Amino acid sequence: MTSQANQGDLEIDPSPLLAVLNELHSQYKLLREGAVAKYIPELAKVNPELFSICIVTVDGQIYKVGDYEQLFTIQSISKVFAYGLALEDHGLDYVLTRVGVEPTGDAFKAIILDEQSKRPYNPMVNAGAMSDDKPLRVYATTSLIKGFGPTERLNRMLDMFRRYIGRDVFVDISVFTSERSTGHRNRAMAHLMLNFGMIDRNIEEALDLYFQQCAVMVDCQDLAVMAATLANRGINPITKEQAVNKHYIKDILSVMYTCGMYNFAGEWAYKIGIPAKSGICGGIIAVVPNKMGIGVFSPLLDVRGNSVRGVKVCEELSQRLCLHLFDCSGQEAKFD
Ligand code: GLU
Repeated sequence: MTSQANQGDLEIDPSPLLAVLNELHSQYKLLREGAVAKYIPELAKVNPELFSICIVTVDGQIYKVGDYEQLFTIQSISKVFAYGLALEDHGLDYVLTRVGVEPTGDAFKAIILDEQSKRPYNPMVNAGAMSDDKPLRVYATTSLIKGFGPTERLNRMLDMFRRYIGRDVFVDISVFTSERSTGHRNRAMAHLMLNFGMIDRNIEEALDLYFQQCAVMVDCQDLAVMAATLANRGINPITKEQAVNKHYIKDILSVMYTCGMYNFAGEWAYKIGIPAKSGICGGIIAVVPNKMGIGVFSPLLDVRGNSVRGVKVCEELSQRLCLHLFDCSGQEAKFD
């Protein structure tokens, strides 16, 4: 196991926070419950033992333990950032006409649209991450991303990830093609939206951009930096670049808070109390506004698709550092 604070390799934990991360890592690496996602064949090849935790503070300090340099595909965590780009491209009022913000408590793959409006319920479920924008002839929360043709849209999306992460990112072609060739359920959702007139053209182009978005490669530190950027009014705390307009942060964090953890979102909000998003890669991001971003990666998933170790680590961090947003018990937040 490797652990680090800032740049130097340190023999002795230089901070209580790194000591907490080391302790949680040693404790939960022994937990071997859950299974890796298998429905995308390429994802099934991941090493189930991988495990890393990283915290990045809004003033740019980095605390990390475990396999934090291991790359993996971002999967559903990308929906948070695609939603932010859609908001920047169209504004809140318009995006709300295309994708709701109602928690469903459904699994990410639920094939379900709002009966009345025919909108996907929220941007964190798959249909919500893939709806359509007729007037501008481009597609999704993903299709709401502006651009002339698939290449420009992909490049705008990759550039958005670059701003959040602070380095160029790339799409894992094997995972992308693996998901594209087996993504019949997502294809079925797209056809359901076509049936309701929510998508009026080239479904395959919208799906390709969505599958590419899910196949962007990140590591655990990237997750924490992205989360810290959201915690820091949209400014990447390492590069100081504005990654997303600060006016949309509250909208992004609100849907993360209510809808970010699949059909565990309610219990998560109740117990852990931090806006978060997970993906079937085994990653979780959690955002403590004005304080820090947390990234955890461990590919063993529970039945709802959340990382088993990731949920445990976030639960403990929330308790130990008093991070629950509504914790008014008089205890001072232990993280300053
Ligand atoms: N690419 C995956 C899908 O849409 C993402 C799943 C997830 O991480 O929730 O099926």
